[in-house]
This record gives sequence, structure tokens and C-alpha cells, in this order.
Amino acid sequence: MLIGPQNSEIDPRGILDRIARAARRAGRDPAEVTLIAVGKTQPAERLRAAAAAGITDFGENYPQEAATKIDLLADLPLCWHFIGRLQSNKTRLVANRFDWVHSIDRVEIARRLSDQRSPHRPTLEVCLQVAVVPEPSKAGLEPEALPEAAAAVAALPRLRLRGLMCLPPFEREPARQRAVFARLRELREELNARGFALDALSMGMSADFEAAIAEGATHVRIGTALFGDRR
Ligand SMILES: *Cc1c(COP(=O)(O)O)cnc(C)c1O
Repeated sequence: MLIGPQNSEIDPRGILDRIARAARRAGRDPAEVTLIAVGKTQPAERLRAAAAAGITDFGENYPQEAATKIDLLADLPLCWHFIGRLQSNKTRLVANRFDWVHSIDRVEIARRLSDQRSPHRPTLEVCLQVAVVPEPSKAGLEPEALPEAAAAVAALPRLRLRGLMCLPPFEREPARQRAVFARLRELREELNARGFALDALSMGMSADFEAAIAEGATHVRIGTALFGDRR
């Protein structure tokens, strides 16, 4: 029998406690923050252990890997969030397996997801990924492109535009982490001032989720702090 981190139990209490404390420090209700357990490279049994410990929301980056795990865990009432880069030849799989897509970086991808979402499922909840800090290698819409992209995505019948997501470069300094997250919050406020009703801010990972919660994160996406290092 294998022993070690592969089949050890998952204990999310430490992370949940840090989320709750960060929320209260910001004068927020901890229930406003959803913990998404990011399971990329983790086998389905690790996710099952996390679900047994009370986690309900899971994030995945790779469509095919995710589909296998979603099938293996189909007996559990879980909410699945797609958070990876999405190519147009994988939209059909994502449109019909996931509940949320956080990483919409082109209107064309959103259009395909809406066309391909099954009429038997509820609308797909989506966020626009924003390149708050421009980086050549990273996906995301430029802030200037947001109003037009948001209008196009909000008009799609099988999607519901919920908010904005960002994946900033690693930054150790909490004040600098917060500046990026504050910018995403301002961008959401600017859109809402134009008539959108966006409630979600998907921001914060293992290294910076407390700063993200201080700036209003509603969804934190946490992998290594929960599951340990990825192989
Ligand atoms: C991997 C990943 C995460 C989780 O990162 P950790 O640092 O392991 O918490 C969150 N969001 C996205 C988009 C990711 O790809």
C-alpha cells in the first residue's frame, strides 16, 4: 500500500480559517468567499478526499484531465470551475462539463461556449480574465477592451457574465499584491457603473489569497496550499 502525501487526508481547516480571518479583517462576511480547490495534476482520489473534508468547489486547468476526474466523481454534488487557458477545439467539452469558466480571454471563445452549452443545463457562469499586469506570455483581456467584451459576452444567451478574474505574476510583497487586486476591483466597479451587474472577483491563489480577500475576492483558487506541491 502506498503511504505518504498521495493518499493522506486533506485538511482544509487551516486554509478556511485564514480565509475567514482575512474576510473579517476586511469587514466582510467569510461566507462571501468561495474556496476553489485547484486540482490540476492531482488524481481523482485526492479530490475525493478533499470533498470528504467538506470542499464543494473544484478548479481545473486542462479539459481532458478534468473530464476524466469529473466522470470519476460524478456521484458527488460538486461545482466545477474551469480556470485554464481554453482553445477553441476544447470548448465543447468545457461547455458541457463545467458550471463556471473563469478564463474567458476572447469573445470568440465565449460565443462558442454559448453555442455549445446544452439546453438541458443551466446557464454557464463566466468571468472575463483580465491582464491587469501586462505580460507577453499570459492570457487576458486588456483593461481598455473590457467594456466592449463585457457587452458582447453579456448578450450571449447560454452564458451569464458574473465578473472578472486575474492571474498576476508572483509577488511577495503584500502591498503590491493588493494593488493589483484593487485594480481588478476598480475595473469591475467601472463596468457596473456602465450598467453591468457583476458580483464575482476571482482572484488570489496560495501565495496571495489574503491580499485578494482584503480587496474583495469572492472566489480564491488554491492548489498547493491545500494539496501540497504539484508533481
Ligand atoms: C494553478 C492555478 C491556481 C492555484 O495555484 P496555487 O499557487 O497552487 O494555489 C490558481 N489559478 C490558476 C489559474 C491556476 O492555474
